[in-house]
Amino acid sequence: MSTLPADAVPHIHTEKVFAGLSDFQRALSSHMDWLRNWYSAVLNWGEPTACLPLEHDACSFSAWLNGADASLIGSFAGFAVLGELHDEVHATAENITSRAAAGHTITTSDYEAMMALVLAFGTAAQNLEREVWRTLATVDPLTGLGNRQTMMSQLVGERDRALRLNQPCCIGLCDVDHFKKVNDSHGHSTGDRVLREVADCLRGAVRPYDILYRYGGEEFLVCLPAATLEDGGHVLERMRAAVEDLRVLDRNGTPFKVTATFGVTMLSADQSVEESLERADNALYDGKRAGRNRVSFYSDDGRDVDI
Ligand code: GH3
Ligand code: MG
Ligand code: MG
Repeated sequence: MSTLPADAVPHIHTEKVFAGLSDFQRALSSHMDWLRNWYSAVLNWGEPTACLPLEHDACSFSAWLNGADASLIGSFAGFAVLGELHDEVHATAENITSRAAAGHTITTSDYEAMMALVLAFGTAAQNLEREVWRTLATVDPLTGLGNRQTMMSQLVGERDRALRLNQPCCIGLCDVDHFKKVNDSHGHSTGDRVLREVADCLRGAVRPYDILYRYGGEEFLVCLPAATLEDGGHVLERMRAAVEDLRVLDRNGTPFKVTATFGVTMLSADQSVEESLERADNALYDGKRAGRNRVSFYSDDGRDVDI
């Protein structure tokens, strides 16, 4: 049974993640304000002006952590670590201030414990931000699919994995038909929307462990681990039908349809990933010549492959 590869690119809406990063930075800065106030209150303990920002709710970082804005960034591993450290920072601050309020002296080890947590919190915040940026670098901003650079390194990994496990691995190249006409008739921004909707549509038609990439312009690639040519053909036929059923709205709200052609081949031991991609491209070209809106298989002798 195949599983999602650990390094598979998650589905990311880059614009939303960028917006989420801004919210994160605002919340972080507000948390730092809270900390500054807390330190100032503790250092001036006993002064009549010292106020105690004890309330966890007063920190808008916790509102961000619990709020809907955090939901996208919330899917990153570093988010949970940061949340736990944030709770610890507040619990420790509360412990120190309530003991001080009860007349106990604030000791050097209190300061050190708090400082260690604050430093760990800062590092976790940096790690989370780095994790988000690293992921954004693997994603095509228009469709949220893995980009071509990510695809090349992952296909090499998938090919090696298939060989090691003695499993087949199929790839399918998808090219939207007459896409230039879509741009010419409906405008480039509608063309962009078509690409996003086709990507979503393809995403809905693949198996959970298949991996989709934006190969370039109006071309997508799907990697189908543990799939024979026959299995792959069925999945790609489902993808083709899903694109054909899609209705995209033009600028006036009138629906129009698009189709796509698919070229299929296997990743195999006796050829490089680049050679397999060339074969998928040859099959795609055959499908275009044969009339488009179809799934076409690579064969060495140029004959159609029956599935
Ligand atoms: P075919 O059926 O043979 O594939 O014809 P086609 O018109 O789809 O292919 P062609 O290669 O002639 O045109 C592809 C067009 O895709 C041309 C290019 O301007 C457009 N394109 C590439 N990337 C993008 C993009 O990110 N957004 C938009 N809107 N258009 C794009
Ligand atoms: Mg093309
Ligand atoms: Mg095309």
